[in-house]
Amino acid sequence: MPGGVAVVPLGIGERPSVTLGDRSVAVVRTGSGWVAVAGIPLDTEPGSRSLAVRTSAAEREVSITIGERAYREQYLTIKEQRYVTPDKEELERYRRERAEMDAARASWRETGVLNTFAVSPVPGRRSDSFGSRRFFNGQPRNPHSGMDIAAPTGTPVQAPAAGRVVATGAYFFTGNTVMLDHGEGLVTLYCHLSRIDVAVGDTVAVGDALGLVGATGRVTGAHLHWSVYLSGVAIDPAYMLADTSE
Ligand code: ZN
Repeated sequence: MPGGVAVVPLGIGERPSVTLGDRSVAVVRTGSGWVAVAGIPLDTEPGSRSLAVRTSAAEREVSITIGERAYREQYLTIKEQRYVTPDKEELERYRRERAEMDAARASWRETGVLNTFAVSPVPGRRSDSFGSRRFFNGQPRNPHSGMDIAAPTGTPVQAPAAGRVVATGAYFFTGNTVMLDHGEGLVTLYCHLSRIDVAVGDTVAVGDALGLVGATGRVTGAHLHWSVYLSGVAIDPAYMLADTSE
């Protein structure tokens, strides 16, 4: 589904390299052979797509079918209008920051292991608003590209899997922000923090502190915004999170 994950068995033998459109796709080794794990962009139309699967000996196409998923509309009220209609300087700042975040999102290390998340970055009520079509003060904006977890300012945020810090910053829309690279193109983003406790280049283990929940940037209140990217494609974090009863 758009915003979901395609898990495609590819058999045994040499490790294949896999692309979907112009994006590399994670390939992991399992007990029954190689498996491709591809994020499906939110704006993908339903229908048939092909994975290009290459080894040194051969190239083949593997067909996948994209289904339909209806996402809700969400209307939010932002007190500070500059977060809805930024001025010229704020827009320029946003473009610079977006370039930094895009570069971090494109991080790729061939690790052969695709982490899932055994723990949530913070305990708390998880929204299911991933993919919602959003209106801020009545104006349409990009769909919601992550999961919001309600938690008071000061709640510790923990790494849900081992990784490496690839970006930190005080950004216009996302406030105090941390990004982690978990390998095989799996990258996570933590936004609106009140404090950042890591630096670019740090290695983190599951459970390590990243910072504290806050309300910086474009928010309606204190919460953690958590995004999960596969090969730069935002997917619903719920797909990668073990079902815990928090
Ligand atoms: Zn959010």
